[in-house]
Amino acid sequence: MEKIAWVTGAGKGIGEVIAQQFAAQGIPVAVSARTQSDIDRVAASIRAHGGKAVAVACDVTQPDAIAQAIARIQQEFGDLTILVNNAGIGGSHKFIGHDDALWHRILDTNLNSVYYVTKAVAPLMVAANWGRIINIASVSSKVGSKYTAAYTASKHGVLGLTRALALEFVSNNITVNAICPAYVDTPMTDNTIANMTERTKLSETDARGYLEKLSPQNRLVTSEEVAYVALMLLDENARGITGQSINVDGGMVMF
Ligand code: NDP
Repeated sequence: MEKIAWVTGAGKGIGEVIAQQFAAQGIPVAVSARTQSDIDRVAASIRAHGGKAVAVACDVTQPDAIAQAIARIQQEFGDLTILVNNAGIGGSHKFIGHDDALWHRILDTNLNSVYYVTKAVAPLMVAANWGRIINIASVSSKVGSKYTAAYTASKHGVLGLTRALALEFVSNNITVNAICPAYVDTPMTDNTIANMTERTKLSETDARGYLEKLSPQNRLVTSEEVAYVALMLLDENARGITGQSINVDGGMVMF
């Protein structure tokens, strides 16, 4: 069995670092996002460091685009055995008067995409009788917070899907796990901070400080910390870990 990975949403942030770290272990990696220039940059950087990478543009909300992406990855590297469902978007709104388009955009990007991509990749893993599916969920998979109805519902859904699939594929040597970070220092969190400064008139430093204080460690998580758990889950000694949700949150949530 050969390790071949697809990291969705790998044009920046957490996905970029996961792709870099998998490639550094000698694993061929397909990096996807919608913005071609971002994934070209990430793939080129991986290759410049001696890794194997292919940039495959793919909107993970579109089943046809997913099928095309998998065909392209197969052509380049072979059948996928590792999938990181990382692509996602943030967004907040008061529930009274909630924007329906925002609801559907977040559910499509954060939850339905995990369904579509995993449905397309899982048969390859079943054929290989080995696989690792890692869903980048969130502490919002476990706790609620105000103004985040769509995001929280989407991430709770990802955790439910993780748990169901872990048991469905338990006899195929495929593990399915979720990683649940608190606020990570990425472009997504930069956007959150920008929204906070706009809506609340907090300064950028105070908005960042507010997010940092949500963690008992009083800091944002790094993408490297999330990637570390993803790498750990690839190991043969992690084969007993399935259906789990691993928090990377400085002690914010303890279940
Ligand atoms: P970023 O916004 O920094 O990066 C997100 C990546 O996903 C980009 O490359 C973006 O590229 C891609 N993406 C977005 N929509 C789609 C789509 N429809 N199809 C394909 N790719 C898409 O996010 P983070 O790195 O911060 O977050 C990554 C994951 O981690 C997300 O699932 C997020 O919910 C989760 N998470 C993040 C936390 C945080 O604080 N940052 C905390 C907990 C969880 P493009 O727009 O070009 O498609």
